[in-house]
Amino acid sequence: MVIALDGPAGSGKSSTAKEVARRLKFVHLDTGAMYRAITLKCLRLQIRADNEQELHKIVGSTELCFCGSPPDTRIWMDDEDVTRAVRSDEVTKNVSDYCAPEVVRKILVEQQRSIGRQASCVCEGRDIGTVVFPQAEVKFFLVASDEARARRRQKDFCEIGITKSLDELIAEIRERDRKDSTRSNSPLKRAGDAEVLDTTSLAFNEQVERIVCAAQKCKSGS
Ligand code: C5P
Repeated sequence: MVIALDGPAGSGKSSTAKEVARRLKFVHLDTGAMYRAITLKCLRLQIRADNEQELHKIVGSTELCFCGSPPDTRIWMDDEDVTRAVRSDEVTKNVSDYCAPEVVRKILVEQQRSIGRQASCVCEGRDIGTVVFPQAEVKFFLVASDEARARRRQKDFCEIGITKSLDELIAEIRERDRKDSTRSNSPLKRAGDAEVLDTTSLAFNEQVERIVCAAQKCKSGS
């Protein structure tokens, strides 16, 4: 079974996906972490996002894999655990540019489908219900107010020692949403058959329960 969780930055996808995967004993597939890892590598090698030839080489020759089980799934790039490095401010600011070219998405989407074929998974991203797994049995599109999303980002950044104002974060989140939803390849979009879940004032446990229940209902065929 595939549970597709899409939505904009800070809508609660990651924390929810981890907990849903833990409860159901599914794999947690964080597709954003894959785009972030490629971005990290390109930034380190000083490859620009508009250099499609080099991007193609990098994506084709980079080994990405997920290890461990939710909520502690880690992402490795080649021989390095980059779980923490992919969350840096620099990667966050640049990822929307590096993930947009067709050469990047084609290869990573294929890898995501391959993971999804091997085991039941909770897959989070921007194009999961529309492009990666349009046949996913359970689809949710998470949303939240800009302020709630910025507050969550502020907390995430605080945990890695970065201090940012709410206004700055709201502006960054809006800019990332703009780029993610207006690109021509696989833009951030709700799948027609995805249920919208507004997490602005939902208790965390409630949003997890909604998804777990939908998955159980689907499994039992009711
Ligand atoms: O989910 P997260 O915020 O880690 O994603 C980082 C970025 O990766 C997004 O802003 C988006 O640009 C890109 N992304 C994407 N398609 C996905 C997952 C993430 O384009 N399926």
